[in-house]
Formats: sequence, C-alpha cells, structure tokens
Amino acid sequence: MISPPKPLVIAIDGPSGSGKSSVSRAVAQRLGLAYLDTGAMYRALTWWCAQQGVDLEDLDAVAQAAKDLPLRMETDPRSPSIQVAGVVIDEAIRTTEISASVSKVATNLAVRAELCRRQQALITESVEARGGVVAEGRDITTVVAPDADVRILMVAHQDARLARRAKELHGEAGHEAMSATHDQIVRRDKDDSTVSQFMEAAPGVTSLDTTDLNFEQSVEAVLDLVAAHTGREDLGSRSRTEPDQK
Ligand code: C5P
Repeated sequence: MISPPKPLVIAIDGPSGSGKSSVSRAVAQRLGLAYLDTGAMYRALTWWCAQQGVDLEDLDAVAQAAKDLPLRMETDPRSPSIQVAGVVIDEAIRTTEISASVSKVATNLAVRAELCRRQQALITESVEARGGVVAEGRDITTVVAPDADVRILMVAHQDARLARRAKELHGEAGHEAMSATHDQIVRRDKDDSTVSQFMEAAPGVTSLDTTDLNFEQSVEAVLDLVAAHTGREDLGSRSRTEPDQK
C-alpha cells in the first residue's frame, strides 16, 4: 500500500530582491503546498498602524497593535491574499511609504514575538489543511521554523537585486530607477539585519545564489534542493518529463 506523502515544510529566507517571494510562490504551486508570505504580515501591521494613527516610534503601542491586529491570510499560492479588519490590502501594502517604514515595525522585538507566534500557527494550519507549506521571509530558517524539512537562504549580488527591483517598480533598470530603489533594498536590508540573520546561511541552511539564474531556473534549483533534502525523487527536476523545446 502506498502511504500518503509526509508533511513538507520548506523555509526560505533572503534579502530584498533575491527572488524569494515569486520563487517560493511558484514552488508552492508546483508542489501543491500552501504559501506563506511573512513579509506581507509586517507590511500589514505597518499599514494598520498608519490607519489607526499609531506612532511607529511608540514601541509599546505598536506591540499592542500587533497583538490586536485583525489579520487574515489566504495561503493558496494561486491567489494569496491578505486582509486586515475585512479590507483586502494586497496592493496597499506594496507602496513606497510602507516599504520605507516597515523596518521600524519589524525591528520592534515584541512585534517579532507576536508575528512569529502567528506564523507558526499558520504553518501548523497549512500542514493540516494542505500537507505542507513554503514559508518565506527573513527569519523563517532560523527562528520561525528552524525544524523545517528544507531550509534555504536565497541570495544574489546586490547589483542583481537592485536591477530586479528597479525593473519591478519602474519598468526599467536605468540609473535613476536604480538609485530610487537603493533605499528599498540596501538601507532596508541593513536595518532588518539588526534583528534577523539573512545575509549568511545559518548552520544547516543551504545557500542558493540566484544572481545568474532566471526565474524558472531558480524555481528548478529550489525543487532540486527539496528533492535532495527529502529524498523524494518525485520532486526533483530530473523526474519532470517536460517536452523537448524545439
Ligand atoms: O519580504 P518583504 O520585502 O515584503 O518584507 C517586508 C519587511 O518585513 C522586511 O523589510 C522586514 O522588515 C520584514 N520582515 C521581517 N521578517 C520576516 C519577513 C519580513 O522582519 N520574516
């Protein structure tokens, strides 16, 4: 008798522009798992504080807002979505204002404890509902899910990360777009690094450099790592029989 596959938790961390969000989502879709974007949760809290008039410098008030946050995460990788107090905020949390201020919220240690607790609960729920999850962020491999079956740190040279994000935000990677993006990548990662370790792989975490990989190659590389770490031959790229490209 064939036994059902074991639950699979894949943790992926990395700096901004490493490709971790889009790649994690695609991997979740390919493997039929849930997808958890933990950065969206920090962004949602930042958005909620602005709505509620909470001063981000007031650490206790922000910590209380984290506890009270009426958050709902939809973790289907085909249509991931985030709601606060019944309002869908998928686009509202991607603005420059939110990107510029989210690190203030994320460096509040009481906030991290609360969001970590919620992320762990969502991972447990996802394992029960879908047999597993791809969870991505800055501290998933080290703090939120250190016992995950597969732990990957996705990295890329800073220039490659800047160029990707500039293209995403401005549709081009020219000089002006690159410098406008600088704050969103370099300064934000520097601030975030004060509370999480995501620039170098922690012990037991596999580093994956995507500098010279395109999107599809990055997805394939993660799927190969999952196959190698879990011993599940059905998950590796060699087992996928795609028609020859003519
Ligand atoms: O991944 P994304 O850019 O959407 O993350 C937004 C912010 O959320 C990061 O800049 C960081 O401040 C915070 N974050 C974090 N820990 C995580 C995920 C995100 O501190 N696990």
